[in-house]
Amino acid sequence: MIIFFICLINGLRDGKECLGSCQKMAKAMQVAVLGSGSGGNATVLCCDEGTFLIDAGLSAKQLVLRLELLGIAADDLDGIFLTHEHSDHARGLNVLLKTRDIPVYANAMTKEALEWGIKSDVKWKVFQTGQEFKIGDLSVNTFSIPHDAAEPVGFVLETEQARFGLVTDVGCVTNVMRESLKHADALFIEANYDEELLESDTKRPWMTKQRISSKHGHLSNTQAGELIAEVGCAKLDYVLLGHLSSDCNTSDKVINTIDPLLKNAELLEIDLVCASQHEPTEWVSFGSEKIVVKLEAEDFIQGDLF
Ligand SMILES: [Zn+2]
Ligand SMILES: [Zn+2]
Repeated sequence: MIIFFICLINGLRDGKECLGSCQKMAKAMQVAVLGSGSGGNATVLCCDEGTFLIDAGLSAKQLVLRLELLGIAADDLDGIFLTHEHSDHARGLNVLLKTRDIPVYANAMTKEALEWGIKSDVKWKVFQTGQEFKIGDLSVNTFSIPHDAAEPVGFVLETEQARFGLVTDVGCVTNVMRESLKHADALFIEANYDEELLESDTKRPWMTKQRISSKHGHLSNTQAGELIAEVGCAKLDYVLLGHLSSDCNTSDKVINTIDPLLKNAELLEIDLVCASQHEPTEWVSFGSEKIVVKLEAEDFIQGDLF
């Protein structure tokens, strides 16, 4: 039998006693984007409180496959948080929940917009936008965002050791968004389009272009960069950039637009990761470091306890 002890290096409450036996360092939270874009969005977050999806907009088959690629069994998910009801954020729910009893966290309007189309039994957990709720020691904060959906929200998920903020499908940056996303260790921010590429795009009708760039549409690369520059601080390690338009954006455009804005704001240590529609990103790990201590049972002398 093997006994695992976890002690937190930050504050090192019990650290001194177990430092000699420590075998592995681990950050408090891990996030990967399973896929992002108009074809479907889903992000997975792991922390001591469990493994959670934020949005389930890929097909159930792709969600399961991509979770597997990241070493996670879909059956082991502890919850799904929904930003809004658009199909590119909720498409996989019905099939995924046919054989799985995973709680779905959504506000009342998002639930209402979705439930008529879902045949599977859903264990809804309805939250009020703007009111914090807890899952064990994980605090979940939601804030409303401007987008053409029933009651769209952004999320901040926080434990004592790590803070992650996510905002996608948002027409413009608001003060509540700025306040909520401050002090994060990692962020997911939508960077939907490059202004010049959208302007010169001949495939999209004028009305569609207007909708995308309107206050209830999507964020441009410049808007995303300005937001990160405003809310970023020394502890911000990673920014995942997502929902890139396939016609009106490229990951080079995203990085080349956002990087100088961060440099201007003297944010020099942030790793920018562009999420793809077609494959998951690698895990990003952030927050306080934990020491994972592994002791063999025979090393554990009972006398030490008393
Ligand atoms: Zn949307
Ligand atoms: Zn979307």
